[in-house]
Amino acid sequence: MTTRRNFLAGAATAAGSIALGLRTVAAAAVPDATPRATTSGAEGLDLSVQPGRVFKRRSDRNALRTDNWLFNLVLLSASDDKPMLDSLVVRCLSGGEVRRTTIWPAAVVGSANLLAAAPMPAKEGGWMVAAFRIADAVPADLAVDRVDCELHCRTADGAQHFTKSVPLQAYAQKTRLVFPFEGRGMISQGGAWNDGHRNRSGMFAVDAIGLADLYAAMHAQGDESSAAAGWGRPIIAPAAGTIVVARNDRPDQPVLGVSDPKFFVAEFPNGGDPGNHVVIDHGNGEFSLLCHMQHGSVKVAEGQRVEQGQEIGLLGSSGDSSSPHVHHQLQDGPHWTSADALPHEYANGPKGQHDRGVFFNAVR
Ligand SMILES: [Zn+2]
Repeated sequence: MTTRRNFLAGAATAAGSIALGLRTVAAAAVPDATPRATTSGAEGLDLSVQPGRVFKRRSDRNALRTDNWLFNLVLLSASDDKPMLDSLVVRCLSGGEVRRTTIWPAAVVGSANLLAAAPMPAKEGGWMVAAFRIADAVPADLAVDRVDCELHCRTADGAQHFTKSVPLQAYAQKTRLVFPFEGRGMISQGGAWNDGHRNRSGMFAVDAIGLADLYAAMHAQGDESSAAAGWGRPIIAPAAGTIVVARNDRPDQPVLGVSDPKFFVAEFPNGGDPGNHVVIDHGNGEFSLLCHMQHGSVKVAEGQRVEQGQEIGLLGSSGDSSSPHVHHQLQDGPHWTSADALPHEYANGPKGQHDRGVFFNAVR
């Protein structure tokens, strides 16, 4: 999915589930022992974090050993008055000690890799009056396990100060996954650190195209989706489980290189439409979402049990897709609009960070 455009919608969705006024909301909302963000702030304004759990990922790109993470800070207000933003201070901590501090002054607090949002329509939890994307890559040796954010702003009531403490976690994947197709392919879009998939449930998502035996991307001339080498390749279940979502009625994008909004479902007019898609409940709190399959090709139904490697549909280009590809993500719930992303690796096929441009051969 081309999910960057979805960030605001996703943030607004998250905002809708969060009550206001709340020094205690984090504790009240967390029934399990998983560490989650804690917050403090002024009456009528609340700084929330998305996703609910923030996982760090190790990277060795460019021979630099770093830990990477990304989350969104969302400032909710009981009114649509947008506060003046003065500064944002981001502290990386390890064992309670500050290891690195970044200060975003007023001049840039609404720019750079921070996303300043215009007032959004009111949701249940209030108005989203500002949002910031905190994306970081720090030396792994710093062993950062927490990020404290401090937002300074001014409202009609005077200077306001909000803090948010975000635990960083490593995730232990439970499900052994195989790549969702067999044979040669290439990652066409990686996770949030690879210029793609920055939305809540898709931060670790993979898009991959299928390639011919000699790694060619096309098997015919022309600009029809069917000219792509991966068109029609069987999409298989990455692991066993129960089908909890199955959609099969969406048309394919007809022209290579074009994700035409006129083929999107009405719910996602601005992008992010998964097209014909399937969600598999792996039975352990992990769910696989597989998107963009060919119109009419999905051969599983909700409630059905599937085994690892079982064919579930054909590689296509339905929904928000500019070329035939499969989108796969691991998430912690059945619905991609409300689930959190889970880092994942495959037992075969692409290794490591799933970076854009990586070639692989998935053999089972
Ligand atoms: Zn995608």
